[in-house]
Amino acid sequence: MPASGVSPLVYSQARHDRVTTGTLDQEALEALGRSSLARWFLLWRGRPAITEEGTILEVNAEIIGRLSGLDPRPDTGHPAFHLGLDGEAPLHLLDLSALPGRPDAETGKDLGPDLDLPGASTFQDLRGIAYTLEPARVAALAHGMALAAWHGAHPFCARCGSRTRLDKGGRMRVCLSADCGTQHFPRVDPVVIMLIEDPTGERCLLGRQARFAPGMYSALAGFAEPGETLEAAVAREAKEEAGVDVVSCRYVASQPWPWPTNLMVGFIARTGGTALTIDREELEDARWFTRAEVAAMGNSTDGENGFRLPGKDAIARHLLLGWLDRTL
Ligand SMILES: [Zn+2]
Repeated sequence: MPASGVSPLVYSQARHDRVTTGTLDQEALEALGRSSLARWFLLWRGRPAITEEGTILEVNAEIIGRLSGLDPRPDTGHPAFHLGLDGEAPLHLLDLSALPGRPDAETGKDLGPDLDLPGASTFQDLRGIAYTLEPARVAALAHGMALAAWHGAHPFCARCGSRTRLDKGGRMRVCLSADCGTQHFPRVDPVVIMLIEDPTGERCLLGRQARFAPGMYSALAGFAEPGETLEAAVAREAKEEAGVDVVSCRYVASQPWPWPTNLMVGFIARTGGTALTIDREELEDARWFTRAEVAAMGNSTDGENGFRLPGKDAIARHLLLGWLDRTL
């Protein structure tokens, strides 16, 4: 039975203590990064360095000193982020995205910069391997990835257009204009994701977008909008995407999703009816699944009924399998 058990929310398993980012200034946080206890993740254009053994690469301050001097951005160098403390060890991430990549001669796929990293590490997409890695480390890395994504997209002040600088280890940016000086904080984008039950509670509504892997169906989802509660966003998205009226919903769990800075907020919702009006701009298809049909879904289209579950690191899978097992 492929579809059994509740998937752990791997990006939600953070154990590092963030108190240092609130209590220490940038200079003190940089000093933590130079300490012998510091451990650093490396990132290149959204892809973390993963060792040949399939673990997340962590390097010391000495290696970071060498890498930081490589062809840095002229204005800021390679951005470094302080994430917090893992016990006594300060956790940091260095974003090397400014370095040029190199295409694989055979596939054309970009292998990232040629750095001769420890463990024969390469820069890899975290999706697809996250569930095989140590969860607390994945969650810390995801924290750094979201910071890197936001900072990378905000070199200028949104108020006056001047350059900004990173401060507080990445907890904020500050406008460099003496006339402005506005502080900007990394944003988190809340996305509601809801497993919708029919009025009997025995079927659930799943949809697929055209970009999904073949056969994959997942819970409906959408960004919360300004002036809207999360519950209202659940009802609105269900109506917009599938034409169903949500009569109740309850919060289940949330999971950070660092592509780029989302927070997935998971609900189980119930509708008053089953008629569907599918928004074909948003969804390629949506349909009701019985518990037996969900139980027969697989990790690929090789499953019993050809339907594929959401990814092992997705909160949609947690909602779906928890609903199937009646454990949520
Ligand atoms: Zn400004």
